[in-house]
Amino acid sequence: MIIKQILENDTFLREDILRLLNCRDEDRTLLFNKSAGIKEKIIGKKVWFRGLIEFSNVCSKDCLYCGIRKGNKNLKRFNLSDEEILSAAKFAYDNRYGSIALQSGEIESTAVADRIENLIFKIKELSRGELGITLSVGEHSHEVYQKWFDAGAHRYLLRIEATNESLYRKIHPGNKKHDFKRRLECLKSLQDIGYQTGTGVMIGLPFQTMDDLASDLLFMKEFNIDMCGMGPYIEHADTPLIHYAADLLPLNERFDLTLKMIAIIRIMMKDINIVASTALQAIDPLGREKAIKIGANIIMPNITPGRYRDSYKLYDNKPCTDESAEDCRSCLEARVSLADSEIVYGEWGDSQHYDKRRKSIYIPKSDPNE
Ligand code: SF4
Repeated sequence: MIIKQILENDTFLREDILRLLNCRDEDRTLLFNKSAGIKEKIIGKKVWFRGLIEFSNVCSKDCLYCGIRKGNKNLKRFNLSDEEILSAAKFAYDNRYGSIALQSGEIESTAVADRIENLIFKIKELSRGELGITLSVGEHSHEVYQKWFDAGAHRYLLRIEATNESLYRKIHPGNKKHDFKRRLECLKSLQDIGYQTGTGVMIGLPFQTMDDLASDLLFMKEFNIDMCGMGPYIEHADTPLIHYAADLLPLNERFDLTLKMIAIIRIMMKDINIVASTALQAIDPLGREKAIKIGANIIMPNITPGRYRDSYKLYDNKPCTDESAEDCRSCLEARVSLADSEIVYGEWGDSQHYDKRRKSIYIPKSDPNE
């Protein structure tokens, strides 16, 4: 089947996705035009902010690709004070960002669970309930997720990173702390509790095949996610996976594949929220704009106090680590308008998919006796 015919369908088979991932030249343009058209029709030319607060780079895990893994001793660890976190949240509120995202390394403990709950309460209080809160703090128990949801967090991003279990095992240590099934259970808990649930993968990992990427997209559709955050894999010198750097696709191909993944998921799941990840900009200065043009609708401006940003490098050459939150905002305004889109201030920008999913679950059935 030619690409044009594939793109006439709403649902893709594995072989369709493989054809789309491999398409080039005019076929690639057809793919991007289709995804851009769907975004404009369903979402509009709009982009919402999630002010990103990377509040701690302390992590108990050792993911083999990650620059802030526990085993990296060449890193200065930090943990922002509550006051610093609240002041960053206040900046987001004062600048009408609509939402913030709290992100950190993964530590499972009662003290961390209580601290995050308390921060959620305080952020809600300082913003009169107006700031939306996304959490991205890793795997925790159902009870802890519930407690944070009850406190007011309503979105959670837990990237699966690779949906093929054997690939997952190659990029994580083989122990209970890095268990694929637990990660899936956590995603299920989040969805069951009622979070807008997001996941995503890295693109261009060592050992990864095109078939793995097709499986990733089919997984996201099957799991019925509300939000997607995908980015190119960029190697970090202080990680075990650096030994496979010679086997990687060139950066420009990883970049191109990421755009295709974004375009395909936009066509497959028309109304979800899709992040234009910062990692795209690490490869191409216009990376995020390109992602917005072909399907992404969320940007996460970094509002972590500047002096800490250099120590939150999940990968090498992370951009914008030397900017203040103010610089970041003006730069992004210019970038978003370059992508022929506009930032929506003062709104949560929730996933339309989530609203429809919840309504389809909870709309009370009419009483046949009435
Ligand atoms: S990917 Fe997340 S959990 Fe894994 S080492 Fe990095 S911060 Fe920790």
